[in-house]
Amino acid sequence: MVKTIAVIGGGTMGRGIAYTAALSGFAVTLQDISEDAANRAKDYIENLFNKNVEKGYVQSEQRELALNNLIFTTELQDAVQNADLVIEAALEVMEIKIDIFKKLDEFAPAHAILATNTSTMSPTEIAAATKRPGQCVAMHFFNPVHRMKLIEVIRGLDTSDATVAAVKQVSEKMGKETVEVNEFPGFVTSRMNCLIGNEAMNMLMEGVASAEDIDKALKLGLNHPMGPLELADLVGLDSRLRNMEYLYQNLGEKYRPSPLLVKYVKAGRLGKKSGQGFYHYNENNEK
Ligand code: NAD
Repeated sequence: MVKTIAVIGGGTMGRGIAYTAALSGFAVTLQDISEDAANRAKDYIENLFNKNVEKGYVQSEQRELALNNLIFTTELQDAVQNADLVIEAALEVMEIKIDIFKKLDEFAPAHAILATNTSTMSPTEIAAATKRPGQCVAMHFFNPVHRMKLIEVIRGLDTSDATVAAVKQVSEKMGKETVEVNEFPGFVTSRMNCLIGNEAMNMLMEGVASAEDIDKALKLGLNHPMGPLELADLVGLDSRLRNMEYLYQNLGEKYRPSPLLVKYVKAGRLGKKSGQGFYHYNENNEK
């Protein structure tokens, strides 16, 4: 039974996963390699709790309990030594994930499940860095984690039924629905979403319509809750480019990253997190 969760990486996703896990009654340690990122994750989580208490979504006792159950650190070994489940949410770079999983295998208890929040990559390849591939799996969360209902659970080649059952139970305790997916690059959601987003970027580049009108067309004409360009800004254009590059390598031409996306990332336009992507954001992160 999972009681203690370690989250590795405190960026867009890691901090959302840590918030949701702590609110759901798990003891949580969030580790980031950068002290600055760990501090920013702490500020973000505290602010989110305060905002949600103000709005009446969270009781103040729940906030106190959750914050008392949350630890922030830069030390990987400290973070995972008592964990029943580790959820890795570091960068979408295979070498980084393999390096982290080697260390997790060394430092986490023998019974611990090791999950990756990869958007596209092979949990089998990541699990091969460990001596416990049966206990490795992908748990693909969505952004913002506290609001999005789904977790895609992706089985690697050797993922055991017990591991899948345990992560489904954790997901349920977090108030999420799951879908079970057999490993294939991009799973169900990223494979689909990357294609739609890339097409929107190519249309913008070709001058077919403005960013506002492309997003409006998809929202009002096709009933998407968010436009593909707004969504890419929320995801982070650097993260999206890494996803596209992985899918391009593994699934071919159809996934070639839009030159506009490449240009924006080169310019440091990373979306909401940098204040500028397909849209401009003010200091309150609003358009
Ligand atoms: P991010 O760039 O916002 O954050 C990554 C964090 O990982 C940074 O704080 C960085 O300091 C930290 N980090 C880097 N190397 C590390 C290491 N070796 N050990 C510990 N921490 C390390 O990235 P993100 O958008 O949160 O994405 C994280 C993962 O989640 C990626 O695999 C991504 O594909 C996946 N994902 C992202 C989204 C999204 O919408 N952004 C959605 C689902 C899944």
